Amino acid sequence: MITLTPMAQLNATVILRRELSPGLFEIWIRPDEGIPDFLPGQYVALGLPESHEGGEKEKLVKRAYSIASSPERKDALEFYIAEVTEGQLSPRLVRLTEGDRIFVQRKYVGTFTLESVPAGSDLVFVATGTGIAPFVSMLRTHGTIEKYSSLTLLHGVRYSADLAYRDELLELQSKRGENFRYYATVSREGPPNWSGEHGYVQKFFTEGKVSVAPETHHLFLCGNPAMIEEVCQLLEGQGFKEHTKKQPGNIHFEKYW
Ligand SMILES: Cc1cc2nc3c(=O)[nH]c(=O)nc-3n(C[C@H](O)[C@H](O)[C@H](O)COP(=O)(O)OP(=O)(O)OC[C@H]3O[C@@H](n4cnc5c(N)ncnc54)[C@H](O)[C@@H]3O)c2cc1C
Repeated sequence: MITLTPMAQLNATVILRRELSPGLFEIWIRPDEGIPDFLPGQYVALGLPESHEGGEKEKLVKRAYSIASSPERKDALEFYIAEVTEGQLSPRLVRLTEGDRIFVQRKYVGTFTLESVPAGSDLVFVATGTGIAPFVSMLRTHGTIEKYSSLTLLHGVRYSADLAYRDELLELQSKRGENFRYYATVSREGPPNWSGEHGYVQKFFTEGKVSVAPETHHLFLCGNPAMIEEVCQLLEGQGFKEHTKKQPGNIHFEKYW
């Protein structure tokens, strides 16, 4: 079997890279072989050689990233990536520029999708930071909103500048009326920069701003594991059950670390 050097495995090109706020980047990538069908909510591994030299003995450093673009878009994949300052891959990913080569895993994977949720359910998406990416993919895909009785997206970030996709989501909300609601909260900033909700995203439940019932609602949680654990604990106390392949439930989550 022929083993390709890390450089030879780079199979995609960065076509756009934009810093949305300090440390948070939108990156568009075009795989050489096109984009296969995938489900909104799925992720793919991105990778780079261990060093800039990409020597023969090196390996690719790979990490999972949720796809923010809709599967209907076939010219590029969009990612929303946070720079983890001490991290091995993300600081290098976010410094790529247009035309740079990158590895994109051929298999697009993940079970954090809407497949198991019955039509007509009420959905609540809860995201911290870049955990909004899979929800953006779902919302951008035709038919998602129409399929459910209601859809609510809660996004918690540190600073108001980190509220990525806000304009797109507000526009969607104004078009969709009661069917789609978008709420944001900011934990480290107040007036004059931000006069909206303050605190962690869990507040929407603990303060009764969003009410959910296990008979009707499915919750999707994505991002910071501490948020996911807290919300799960809170909801399990109200009769919600974690969804697994073997035992269908109504809490679905994707922990980013
Ligand atoms: C299914 C899945 C989907 C993901 N999708 C995304 C995505 O869309 N966007 C995105 O930015 N990241 C996403 N991640 C996280 C990503 O895979 C990497 O873990 C992250 O980019 C850090 O990689 P690194 O090599 O720079 O850091 P590493 O060298 O791997 O690790 C550094 C340390 O940072 C911690 N860490 C990882 N991510 C974060 C974070 N965001 N904030 C604080 N600490 C962190 C890890 O626990 C680790 O201890 C996803 C993870 C999973 C499992």
